[in-house]
Amino acid sequence: MSDDAKRWKEKYLSSLEQQERQEKRWETRLDLLRRSLVRSSFAVDGADPAVDQCMRELREILRDDVQDDRLGALVPRLERAVLDTERSKQDRLEQLTAALHRLVSPLLELPLPGEIRKPLKKFDRQLDERAAQSRELPSLIGELGELQHQALAVLDQTGPATVGLLGRLFGTRERHAPPPSGAATDASPQSMDRAEDLSDSTAAPASTPLPGRDTTPMDEQTAATVVPPAEIEPTPAPDLSADADARYRLPESPEQAYSAIAERVESTLFGLLDGLQLPEHQQPQAQALRERIQHGLNWYELVPVLDDLAQLLLMVADQGQREFENYLKLLNERLASMQQSLSSAREGHAQSQEVAQALDEELRQQVGGLQSSMLEAKDLPSLKQAVQTRLDGLLETVDLYEQQRGEHEKRLSERLSALVGRVASLEEAAVGMQQHLEEQRQKALQDPLTQLANRAAWDERLELEMARQQRYGGHLLLAVLDVDHFKRINDSFGHLAGDRVLKIIANELRKRLRKTDFIARFGGEEFALLLPETPLEAGLPLIDGLRAGIQACPFHFKGARLEVTLSGGVTDFRERDSAEAVFQRADQALYRAKGNGRNRIETA
Ligand code: GH3
Ligand code: MG
Ligand code: MG
Repeated sequence: MSDDAKRWKEKYLSSLEQQERQEKRWETRLDLLRRSLVRSSFAVDGADPAVDQCMRELREILRDDVQDDRLGALVPRLERAVLDTERSKQDRLEQLTAALHRLVSPLLELPLPGEIRKPLKKFDRQLDERAAQSRELPSLIGELGELQHQALAVLDQTGPATVGLLGRLFGTRERHAPPPSGAATDASPQSMDRAEDLSDSTAAPASTPLPGRDTTPMDEQTAATVVPPAEIEPTPAPDLSADADARYRLPESPEQAYSAIAERVESTLFGLLDGLQLPEHQQPQAQALRERIQHGLNWYELVPVLDDLAQLLLMVADQGQREFENYLKLLNERLASMQQSLSSAREGHAQSQEVAQALDEELRQQVGGLQSSMLEAKDLPSLKQAVQTRLDGLLETVDLYEQQRGEHEKRLSERLSALVGRVASLEEAAVGMQQHLEEQRQKALQDPLTQLANRAAWDERLELEMARQQRYGGHLLLAVLDVDHFKRINDSFGHLAGDRVLKIIANELRKRLRKTDFIARFGGEEFALLLPETPLEAGLPLIDGLRAGIQACPFHFKGARLEVTLSGGVTDFRERDSAEAVFQRADQALYRAKGNGRNRIETA
């Protein structure tokens, strides 16, 4: 073998040796990679069923000889599964962040001292940013657990004087003593068991960041108190080593802090539900809530239960508000009706119109104010206050009106009394006037000189006697008497003497007549007589007796005897005679008596 050949052989052997070493190294590296991949596949196991499936297949492929085809098909599936998992993980992170905010909010409502409030606020502020990094979650949960623990401890110390949110939500009833350690009321057997162990170690110090689940044994994750179930629920881990149980052990008694207040919360919630006056259609809702509370609450169920309870309370409050609004409407209608009545009353008091208008206006304002108060009021106490104020105003207005009305009625009453007095005096005056009128009437029918009936009275009486005679029949005489030569008397002795003669004749005639007979001075020195139920034969001597009686009267003037005589005409009423006709006949008879020498009675 030539030198060249030897050199080429050594080079070849050396290359071969190098290649074998390389292959051996690659083999070792491949084996390491395969083993690492298997280990890693276990590490991500439980993250997502699809990824788990891909990992199982990957492990099978890796255990056997390399199956390029299967591996080639598996990788894209794995990529998709991992992407999906990532998305789900992001969603869960967001849910978790929201849940953590919901847990922080009620704590911020509590009357906490600054040293707890400040870190709580800081926690709330940084929550979104920190929760975006999954490794921060255990730390976040741990810190929140600690803050909760501190807040509850402060609440327990402050006692009933500091009521806080829970107190305001659940009322200020006597606070129950915290349950003894381990006496958790959570219905979950798991949490009951664990509460005993962690009653005094609910959280790691906030300054101690908790290691992530991916890289840290689970027993080092101390008491994450408020992790939602979806986040802490473990997936079954493959039995890779002897300490597998220890590594995947769940944090103990994660709800211990809630257990400490569970009994009190439950009894308060029951008390609240019992105290609610619910309409029938909302009873099932309250009963369902009662059952949920009775079944046992924990941190995760408390919030939705409170949400539902708050909704129920809002419905009740809304209903109460509506009832109150209805009551106010009714009140308003009654006030309007009262106003109407007062308006009617006002119409009956014309003079109190101004007062009633003022009252009207005032009531309208009050009622309007009541309506606007009802609409503007934001809560029941302010609404009650507004209504009370309005009602007081109304009562004052009505009182004032009553007072004014009382005064007005008093004035009216006085005026009425005065009116009654005036009416009485008017009545009295009327009676007097009546008498006076009667007197006047009598006077109007009387001759003032002789006090005999005058011509008007004669006409009345004539009509009456004629009607009576026409109805009952019988006789009715009419006589006319005239003083003879009276003109001479006047001329001889004066008018006064003449008047005196007329008076004396009148009295003589009146005296001598019967009660049923009627005599009137017909004018001047002439007299007319009506003699009912008197035939002419009987009447003539009677009239003639009058004449004789006048003639017999001893008139005298300055010691000298004076004879005064009468002439007369008498006639009777005959069938279908008119008054004028009868009078005319009597007058004709008188005329005849004058003509026949006077001092005589003629008939016709
Ligand atoms: P004869 O017999 O025809 O009736 O005559 P005579 O004078 O009576 O009748 P005549 O009718 O001519 O006169 C009547 C007078 O009576 C005229 C008048 O002055 C007078 N006389 C009428 N009324 C009164 C009165 O009331 N008082 C007085 N004193 N005189 C009167
Ligand atoms: Mg005459
Ligand atoms: Mg005469």
